[in-house]
Amino acid sequence: MSNIKIELTKQSKLKDLDLENIVFGREFSDHMFIMDYYDGQWRDARIEPFKNMEVSPAFLSLHYAQSIFEGLKAFYTQNDEIVLFRPQANFARLNKSAERMCIPPIDEAFTLNALKQLVNIDRAWVPNVKGASLYIRPLIFATDEFVGVKPSETYRFVIFTCPVNKYYDAPVKVKIEESYTRACSGGVGYSKTAGNYASSLYPTKLAQKEGFDQLIWTDGKEHKFIEESGTMNLMVVIDGKLITPISGDTILAGITRDSVLKIARDWGMPVEERNLAVQELLDAHAAGTLTEVFGTGTAVTICHIITIGYRGQLLELPAVAGRVFSNKVNDQLAKIRLGSEVDKFGWIEKVG
Ligand SMILES: *Cc1c(COP(=O)(O)O)cnc(C)c1O
Repeated sequence: MSNIKIELTKQSKLKDLDLENIVFGREFSDHMFIMDYYDGQWRDARIEPFKNMEVSPAFLSLHYAQSIFEGLKAFYTQNDEIVLFRPQANFARLNKSAERMCIPPIDEAFTLNALKQLVNIDRAWVPNVKGASLYIRPLIFATDEFVGVKPSETYRFVIFTCPVNKYYDAPVKVKIEESYTRACSGGVGYSKTAGNYASSLYPTKLAQKEGFDQLIWTDGKEHKFIEESGTMNLMVVIDGKLITPISGDTILAGITRDSVLKIARDWGMPVEERNLAVQELLDAHAAGTLTEVFGTGTAVTICHIITIGYRGQLLELPAVAGRVFSNKVNDQLAKIRLGSEVDKFGWIEKVG
């Protein structure tokens, strides 16, 4: 399996790329990585032109969502090198998701090498603009043509990439959700698997009709404890302490979350990973000790939350400009990625 067959495109789409007017996730680079699983093994690793694939209407993944994905980024450092941010963590998490969904594991080292080759081939697609990046989407889906619920015997693993410009990271308005549930204990919340996102669409749409950008999910049992928000982990600063829900089996263990916690601990900030009750948030807001609320995720890094809706009430949070920790950690992560800050945690992986 060590050989990757490479077929280069004869018609690059690069000349049509208009980075200024790019819509996130809508523009695809010239090439993709593919490998297939059959006869008990991952095989036929190849890099080929990005193009449509043939799909059987009977593909198991289409019916029963036996499908998982990842999201990470490549970008330029200030020394004009292309690097990835913690890619090993993404492939380790992909295998964790795979196990829960009965998908055969991938070889993480082999896949990282394949990804580096892919990014190298499409290096002209990595925007050399501060804040811009190449978003990378690995995914695995079941390809057995079969009607009936069972783990597939065949799978396809694809990695494709999208150039993305700097996000306009406006602060968001979120609603605490108390009726619908994203994940329950014993379920698949910790797995980056397709069904989790499908089930979130309807409750999110309802909140958006009320003027919110996103939901804050609460626990599936009592709806008393904060979980996460959209595809971001949630963090708050109360009384100078950084608090975030435990990443048990209902919360996706974000790599940005982990990076923010590691930096906070390194700075000597008190960090608490524990249950965070909605009531505690309300009390802290009333007492004026809730100074920062934000989401963390690869797409935006840090997303400030400015308003929280709860049972028809709107809690207005402190102005973003005065939020010391989240602004500082956002800058720190940007500097580590750029290479202007020492990479003391070993998070930066050169594409070569
Ligand atoms: C991907 C994701 C996150 C963020 O994870 P990162 O590794 O930081 O990008 C958080 N919550 C959910 C539900 C996600 O799917």
